[in-house]
Amino acid sequence: MLDILIQSAQYPDYEKGKMVNGDIGIKDGKILKVGRITESAKAIISAEGKIVSPGFIDIHMHEEDFINEGEKYVISEMMLKMGVTTCLGGNCGLQHQSVKTFKESILRLGGSPVNYMLLAGYNSMRTQYEIDRYTNAPKEVIAKISEKMKEEIADGAFGVSFGLEYDPGITFDEVVSVLNDQKDDDIFVSMHYREDSAGSPDAIQEMIKIAKISKKKFQISHLSSCSAMGQMKDALKEINDAIAENPKLDYDTYPYNAFSTHIGSAVFNEGCFERWNKSYESILLTDEPYKNRFCDKELFEKARKEYPEMLAVAFVMNEEEIAAAISNPHGMIASDGIINNGNGHPRAAGTFPRVLGKYVRETKSISMIDALRKMTLEPAKRLGLSKKGQIQEGFDADITIFDPKTIQDGATFEDITIEPTGIDLVLLNGRIALKDGDVINDRLGRFISSKF
Ligand SMILES: [Zn+2]
Repeated sequence: MLDILIQSAQYPDYEKGKMVNGDIGIKDGKILKVGRITESAKAIISAEGKIVSPGFIDIHMHEEDFINEGEKYVISEMMLKMGVTTCLGGNCGLQHQSVKTFKESILRLGGSPVNYMLLAGYNSMRTQYEIDRYTNAPKEVIAKISEKMKEEIADGAFGVSFGLEYDPGITFDEVVSVLNDQKDDDIFVSMHYREDSAGSPDAIQEMIKIAKISKKKFQISHLSSCSAMGQMKDALKEINDAIAENPKLDYDTYPYNAFSTHIGSAVFNEGCFERWNKSYESILLTDEPYKNRFCDKELFEKARKEYPEMLAVAFVMNEEEIAAAISNPHGMIASDGIINNGNGHPRAAGTFPRVLGKYVRETKSISMIDALRKMTLEPAKRLGLSKKGQIQEGFDADITIFDPKTIQDGATFEDITIEPTGIDLVLLNGRIALKDGDVINDRLGRFISSKF
């Protein structure tokens, strides 16, 4: 007897390149059978009129900070509510805790809302060695950090991440030496570029070069916040040409015309408004005492000085360029979600429904199957998750069922807690985690260690 039988499913068949119909039988956490199924099941779910997708895989997000914010789940619960079943934290060079500490916390908490993976964050490690962000690191320290990265990978990290923009002192040679020191070329490397807008062409070239020299799987992070200020067309051409030469290169992007980071970050240093051709009013603060206030010069400077860790949202990107990054044949959808003290950017709670509602249904910038491929199969392949990302016999039963007519993000810049609509059911490791938008079980996920 099956555990769960999903009837009349419409699901993506990536090999055929189209949406197909059939039943899906689930047992012991796996997809046992796909097609016409007559077998009985403990639970039957009708998916008439709905789309049954492999659970979304968020290849770029920022994990919970258990050390500073306590052992509780905030962002990963938002992930579950928007149909994500597996996510990768530790991006942009920012790792909130070691792999070991993170794993132990998840065990202590009895599981997590989604399956979790982690990258080792280079910038966080650099801070631990007390290297100032504007300073070049001495060779001995770089060697020590590189050893630490190896330890993190041995502990289960899928690879390493860098945030060049956050620590302008990180040199090209520094990155190359650290990457060349990591012997396994199958590790995943994500990189937050050195500079956005006018700096985008050089930043993209630098990353293409590092990818080539390091020979690792290399992901350019959240492309839209680097190049959707007038440089997207050129950036996509550069990247597509580079991928033709180096298939281990790719990028991810999110569906909003505003980015978000800490107000004290180097991103907001002198000259940023000239670069974006915007003013102080384009910056929204997300936490008390300035929650939901747009800046002027005085408030901007005050917040940077007094609350450098506060997340700010910068409305500086162009909509057509966001859509271009989403619909390009290459590239994946990822949230870059980051939550601090319960606050942040709505992308942490709305990215995947927003792409399906806005860019697939409303503007038709991308087809349903291509959007789903960029949320499931591509990130799964990228991370070597050989049993995830497809509806196929023998695959993990991580499944998201949604209504293509109603799926929509709910979270706004004023209120990120508004939940998306149209997510009917999420199965995680073969069991029901979410039903009709309600969390049924938020401990079905587990920490996934890399096999390195
Ligand atoms: Zn980033």
